[in-house]
Amino acid sequence: MRAPTLGGIDCDVHPALPGMAALLPYLDDNWRAQVTARGIDGLDLMCFPPGAVAHGRADWRSADGRRPGTSLADLQAHVLDPFGTQTAILNCLYGIEGLGNEYLAVALARALNDWIAAEWLDRDKRLRASIIIPTQNPELAVEEIERRAGDPRFVQVMVLAMGDMPLGKRLLWPIWAAAERHGLPLAIHAGTTAHHATTSNGWPSYHLEDYVTTAHAFQAQLLSLVSEGVFHRHPRLTVVLLESGFTWLPAFLWRANKTWRAMRAEVPWVDRPPADIIRAHVRVTLQPADAPPEPRDLAHVLDQLGGEQMLLFSTDYPHWHFEGCDAFPAGFPAALRRRVLVDNARATYPRLRPVQQGEATA
Ligand code: ZN
Repeated sequence: MRAPTLGGIDCDVHPALPGMAALLPYLDDNWRAQVTARGIDGLDLMCFPPGAVAHGRADWRSADGRRPGTSLADLQAHVLDPFGTQTAILNCLYGIEGLGNEYLAVALARALNDWIAAEWLDRDKRLRASIIIPTQNPELAVEEIERRAGDPRFVQVMVLAMGDMPLGKRLLWPIWAAAERHGLPLAIHAGTTAHHATTSNGWPSYHLEDYVTTAHAFQAQLLSLVSEGVFHRHPRLTVVLLESGFTWLPAFLWRANKTWRAMRAEVPWVDRPPADIIRAHVRVTLQPADAPPEPRDLAHVLDQLGGEQMLLFSTDYPHWHFEGCDAFPAGFPAALRRRVLVDNARATYPRLRPVQQGEATA
């Protein structure tokens, strides 16, 4: 493996919870007893099947059979060191949003965020993280954002792409207001609470179908955020799509614009074409790079995406999307790499910008 030492900001890295036992020290006495007595565990199955081939690259799996992503030493050896990563954002996928009990959900969200801070952020200065929230209850979700926002190492709020309702719904606006108030982008990561079918035609049979059609979920969420007026209401809110792919985006923007021209009377607050709003407020991570088969075609897609600001570097560690250190797909323009590796992330995440002299850090 060559060592390119890209020196980038990796916006999608997945630490994995080894099991509920890891969270017990971060739960209060009541919830520790409840979780233990009821044998609650394995919520990660709701997000991404750990045994799936794509869940862990072969050379990123440990010899002792540990679940990929459960070891800081592995993360350092597999990604941070060989890629020369200056900063990596930890996005811990766990099935908290799928729980029916909102009080258990907030207890686990708190524990998970505290576990990330103590077991990962405190042990490597290169690491940052997403705040995990219980979207079941916006009031509790805001409380968790407020509780963790004072720690500048938490740089965004993360939710799943297939949750219980479209993300633009007014019920959720207090969460987006809290994120905007604290300079925290809203990250939407591929994943489902499994409360609704993962396709608009009903339940599919295979993980392959779930994964490919996730692009539809991202499209629905973007349309919801635009149509319900979230960006009109929160002009400083940024949304980051994680593990969404990006080559579907240009055709979606064309379709959204065309339909908006005919239907705009019902959404007068959408006062400019949806593509303009999305290009101003939405960023997308690089991996999985669903690039065209001909490398020469990639430049056309990037051009159609509509701006050098759109893409953020990611490896999606430990998921398997590329070999070696070739995180950039073939044909990716060399001139754009610096922006994607570092500059775009700094522009997207206020908490990743270098602190100016005299400026508060939190
Ligand atoms: Zn991911």
